[in-house]
Amino acid sequence: MAESKDYYKILDVSKDATDDEIKRAYRKLAKKYHPDANPDNKQEAEAKFKEVNEAYSVLSDKTKRAQYDRFGSNFEQAGFGSGGGYGAYSGFGGFDFSGFNGGIDIDLDDILGSVFGGGFGSSHKKQGPTKGADLRYNMNITFEEAAFGVKKEINIARHEACDNCHGTGAKPGTQPVTCDKCGGKGKIQTTQNTIMGSFSTVKICDKCNGEGKIIATPCEKCYGKGTVKKTKKIMVDIPAGIDNGQAISYRGEGDIGKKGGPNGDLFVVVNVSKHKIFTRRGFDILCDISVPFTILTLGGTITVPSLEGDIQYSIPEGTQSGTVFRIKDKGIQNIHSRSKGNLEFTVNVDIPKRLNDKQKQLLKDFASIMGEEVNIKKKNIFGR
Ligand SMILES: [Zn+2]
Ligand SMILES: [Zn+2]
Repeated sequence: MAESKDYYKILDVSKDATDDEIKRAYRKLAKKYHPDANPDNKQEAEAKFKEVNEAYSVLSDKTKRAQYDRFGSNFEQAGFGSGGGYGAYSGFGGFDFSGFNGGIDIDLDDILGSVFGGGFGSSHKKQGPTKGADLRYNMNITFEEAAFGVKKEINIARHEACDNCHGTGAKPGTQPVTCDKCGGKGKIQTTQNTIMGSFSTVKICDKCNGEGKIIATPCEKCYGKGTVKKTKKIMVDIPAGIDNGQAISYRGEGDIGKKGGPNGDLFVVVNVSKHKIFTRRGFDILCDISVPFTILTLGGTITVPSLEGDIQYSIPEGTQSGTVFRIKDKGIQNIHSRSKGNLEFTVNVDIPKRLNDKQKQLLKDFASIMGEEVNIKKKNIFGR
């Protein structure tokens, strides 16, 4: 790019050449150096071809040509990049140069592939086998169902092959016929006359979508699509230990593939509802339990809920509020192994709110033995 080039010399025209002369010179050289016309020295021809295109892209543009004439070797530094290199081709996007080649029939994909090293062709080719669409089904399950697993039948709506035409889209007894618009080629070539000469564009045939064949008598059940939407029952086996947001995949249970491609997959995503008592942490289940202060103080047996029924649990005397106890293997089945999580419960002191006089007196006596000053005096002072 930094190197200055004499575009007039490249096109072999004088500095005061008319637009017509430039165009004629360009067409002559583009034809001469076209890589496909030079199979023996392709690389050299390609370099020349690029150079010719670059020169033409500048000299054919009035503004660029004026800037080039004025700045000469500083043309590019002045910010009027010629769009050299491959950029020079971009103006031709979608054009076929076969018009220059005296009847050499070059496929657009081939020429772009050879000049640009691929990357342009795919959208021009007709579609091959394609995987069918994946489907997602959201399933609500309870906390317990997630913990222990559950089997549920669901109905999914998916595209399946039409059983009337067996997926061909043609009315039974008829066959698809050759497309009359493209003659079965699947693409249509049109020649356009432009300032740069006549170019051919190749487009996918819109009548047959590039298939080359059309369905003359469509199947009356699927209207020629070859697929119909059907409801399918699927038995979903939710494994024990699944967690909120996780999915079970069923390979091939999605929409039918196109042109022999594989079916899509079905993903059943579970939404686990909240539990009244428990929360979950991995495969452990957690809960809070209120325990009377007397049991915390003196120790005793408390009832702990679990997913498998109540458990009697002894807590030692002098248990502080907020202490966490763990019962092993009473959590949730680990979905990846045979082990189970634990049940963890936090004990919180349950302070009695309404005590009768006798209960209060006992506590006051207790406080006084402990040397604690409860609000006996205050009560007297304020006469509550
Ligand atoms: Zn059909
Ligand atoms: Zn067609």
